[in-house]
Amino acid sequence: MSVTDEIKSRIDIVHYIQRHVPALKKAGRNYKACCPFHNEKTPSFVVNPERQSWHCFGACAEGGDLFTFAQKMQGWDFKEALRELAQEAGVQLEAQTPEQKTRSDRLDGLRALLADAAAFYQRELRRDAGASAYSYLTADRGVHPDTAELFQLGYAPDSWDFMLRALRSLGHSDDDIVEVGLAVRHESGRVYDRFRQRLMFPIRDERGRTVGFGGRALNPDDQAKYINSPQSPLFDKSRLLYGLDMGRRAIRETGAAVFVEGYMDVIQAYQAGYHNVVAQMGTAMTEAQVRLVAPRYAKRIVLALDADEAGQSAAHRSLEVAREILSRDYAGRLSTDLRVLKIAGGKDPDDVLHEGPERWPALVDAAQAVADFVIDRETAALPANASLQERQAAAQAVLPLLHVSENNLYRQENIQKLARRLRIGERDMLAWAQARRPSTPQPTRPAAQGAATADLPPEYWDNEDASVPPDEWGGLADDSAPTPSRTQAPLKRAAEAYCLGMLLKNPHLLAQVNRKLRELAGDDDDLLRGPLRELCAEDFSQIHYRTLMTHLQNSMAQDDMEPVEYLYRVIEGELETEFEALLIDEPAAVSQTMKRNFQVDFDDIWRGSHHRSRPGFSLREELVTRALQLRLARLEHERVELQYLQEETQTGSESDPGQIDQLRASIMLSMRAKARINLAVD
Ligand SMILES: [Zn+2]
Repeated sequence: MSVTDEIKSRIDIVHYIQRHVPALKKAGRNYKACCPFHNEKTPSFVVNPERQSWHCFGACAEGGDLFTFAQKMQGWDFKEALRELAQEAGVQLEAQTPEQKTRSDRLDGLRALLADAAAFYQRELRRDAGASAYSYLTADRGVHPDTAELFQLGYAPDSWDFMLRALRSLGHSDDDIVEVGLAVRHESGRVYDRFRQRLMFPIRDERGRTVGFGGRALNPDDQAKYINSPQSPLFDKSRLLYGLDMGRRAIRETGAAVFVEGYMDVIQAYQAGYHNVVAQMGTAMTEAQVRLVAPRYAKRIVLALDADEAGQSAAHRSLEVAREILSRDYAGRLSTDLRVLKIAGGKDPDDVLHEGPERWPALVDAAQAVADFVIDRETAALPANASLQERQAAAQAVLPLLHVSENNLYRQENIQKLARRLRIGERDMLAWAQARRPSTPQPTRPAAQGAATADLPPEYWDNEDASVPPDEWGGLADDSAPTPSRTQAPLKRAAEAYCLGMLLKNPHLLAQVNRKLRELAGDDDDLLRGPLRELCAEDFSQIHYRTLMTHLQNSMAQDDMEPVEYLYRVIEGELETEFEALLIDEPAAVSQTMKRNFQVDFDDIWRGSHHRSRPGFSLREELVTRALQLRLARLEHERVELQYLQEETQTGSESDPGQIDQLRASIMLSMRAKARINLAVD
């Protein structure tokens, strides 16, 4: 018996889940409750005691065993879950495989090296060489010696080989010292210290282990005020939050995390007694960083960035990231209240915490809702007599971000507010936003090439469900709205509805679509595993369609019953309406259903996509072509995202050539796939 089986045999999944979901009640052979991972009113979370498995038949559409539940619930990775559950079950973990052992020993060795380095720097801060650094820290910045101790602050002396000699004396190799970024190897082969004459901040992971360093220049002539460890097997700045090891408990207790820019802000806050403060370390907030705290610990994230333009644009960029995360988070798992803290008088969080820490809690409480922040920021620069173009541009910048809010009513208020501020009618404003949507492929012809010209990546525009309240789109059917693009979003929806409806009615046709994709990939494994993989939820942009597609795939993967019967059993609640609408053959009826959501005339679209009277019409071919067009749309969408990422990586301060190459390769692969699909649908 494997270790995981041994653990599963000792911990009953029903008991384990009941500890986290007390409402789990027996229902027939199973246990049922409202899903702990998404918001719902009717229970669709089912635990099967015989199979020792769980499944959410609702928005999550996923399930698994004890391990996957524990991982999801606790935010653990598999290793953590294994460690924790083994302990709970009293199971001795078996030795790792030789490869795992080698790797984990290697990482342990590098961590030990970094811990040694932190100790050396720390010691140096209290010596004569570090006197000016120490006085800067304590006298100028008011950091108490105890606080410096807690954060293990240190000093890198003005030397080319201080750290090298120190670490070599403990038996560490130059290769290791270079690998963790404490030293740099010159082309000539010479090795020298990376950090010189700097105040050193050890960066620790959430478990408190040093994984890298940040160094602040003390020599005013030094060009770079801050430098960080480069990316290493242990250090990935985008996946770390400085201070999280110290702040995790406070974040859990208060349910809020305050994101600041730098090390010093965290340290000042901690010293003032505010422990729920972490730093995103000079980058825009990343999804990985958000996931470190939300939704596990924090329900609210407050962005408290510097008052200067760089800080404010970082705040803006962070909101865009948040918007991306939330728009993809269709199960609502990350429903996090995001706020922005603005400090009057151009002060940074660090200044406030230093000069008047007692003001901090009130400031955090008064943090602005995202929408207000965005509207203020984008409209503040507009002159009183701003031209129509200028006001249009402002509307286009603000609208996508307004939809960060999940609450429809709230969103609508914001849209009204923006319209008032810009002296524009609501309908016109929404029409402009719509006009700027990059063209998405229409069901009647292949995707337009290089279509995305919008200032923002297209994900802001693509997902109707996450954007404007349905009533607002009603305005777009109005004749005053710009004609060329106004039906694109509904067309996309209609194309998806067509494919999904066809597949739900004829589940076996899914195999035909997948066979075509395999055929197009040929023996190119990269295509087969990548852009030409089987049709799946990601090919649909509508939330409900994604879920239905997952159910459809599951229905084909099981053999207890007919796929259609399976679908009728698992689909319930809100989804049922969508499901039934898709099963209806009558265009008029579908049109009625859709009109309820989007007041656009769908009859034309349906007439356009129904060619049954056409001689030689084949349902199978028609479906395969339409499904390929969906894939094209998705690839185009992904390519724009990749290019956006690539640009960002190239312009980033620490661009990583490996990452750039990888992105480039992905873009090429995606283009190869598109070329093959285009040939096939033409
Ligand atoms: Zn769920």
